[in-house]
Amino acid sequence: MDLPNVQTYLRPADLESVKDWQQGWAWLSGGTWLFSQAQPNITTLVDLEKFGWSEIEVTPDGLAIGAACIQNQLLEFSWPENWQGTKALESAVSHLGSFKVSHIATVGGNICLALPVSTFAPVMIALGATYEIWHGGFAYRVRALEFQTGVQQTILQPGEVLRKIWIPASNLEWQTSFQRICMASDGYALSTVVAAFNSQSNQVRFGLGACVSTPRLVEFTSIPTAGDIADVLDEQLPLHDFVEDDRGSASYRRQITQVLMERSLFELCHP
Ligand SMILES: Cc1cc2nc3c(=O)[nH]c(=O)nc-3n(C[C@H](O)[C@H](O)[C@H](O)COP(=O)(O)OP(=O)(O)OC[C@H]3O[C@@H](n4cnc5c(N)ncnc54)[C@H](O)[C@@H]3O)c2cc1C
Repeated sequence: MDLPNVQTYLRPADLESVKDWQQGWAWLSGGTWLFSQAQPNITTLVDLEKFGWSEIEVTPDGLAIGAACIQNQLLEFSWPENWQGTKALESAVSHLGSFKVSHIATVGGNICLALPVSTFAPVMIALGATYEIWHGGFAYRVRALEFQTGVQQTILQPGEVLRKIWIPASNLEWQTSFQRICMASDGYALSTVVAAFNSQSNQVRFGLGACVSTPRLVEFTSIPTAGDIADVLDEQLPLHDFVEDDRGSASYRRQITQVLMERSLFELCHP
């Protein structure tokens, strides 16, 4: 849609050229969300495209994904065979289910948009990703778990930009399961559960999304029973932490999340 409030479009060649960040400025990546609804508070779009931040790099330390990597690039990449964890990244793309969006939208755009239903956020949390953030000439890293602070809220300060996502090689060797449930066969998720399982140590990490307003991590040092899962959810995620809206009650989301956690364990531990 047209964005009548936008008066200026900037397309800088590099980050150093972006000076004096002002109120009303917003980074533009794929633009799939920015152009999907009115943006009354945005007056200037700063396009990331010329920065060339769309790399997918396999290094001895792990995986680096440029923030402007188009989501569909993840489906086309040839991953190292032992990186079973990359299946969860592919699921984050395929569960979006929209050809139009996934061919234009970027991984960084999805993460920075910080929707509770983000398909990427629980994957990044389950895989222990860290995010590299730039503020002018200064860079720092933050755990994926600490990035999103609320519904469409992140730790990013005005002018800060997500540059890269890092996932350690050892975590990418974990097996993963991506479970998501919607009201109908598609649409906004009621709960997304991404499980990562280390078959040598039996450690399990769950990234939870959609059922809660900010993605959460639940960890076990050995394969949990259904009772263990119920106990940990009760301890770490009280009912008021679950989203309650006209698509589903908090108690329904709590229950269905537990079912998805059990289902993913069954898939991973009884292949
Ligand atoms: C109708 C619709 C339904 C959707 N449903 C879902 C869904 O169910 N699940 C889901 O996971 N996603 C959903 N999405 C989001 C979609 O997957 C895209 O990921 C999302 O639109 C953002 O990608 P983009 O690259 O187009 O970002 P843009 O639209 O360009 O930007 C999105 C936001 O992120 C900021 N931003 C972008 N890149 C950076 C960066 N590198 N650093 C800092 N800030 C940045 C922008 O300023 C903006 O605020 C939906 C989108 C639409 C339009």
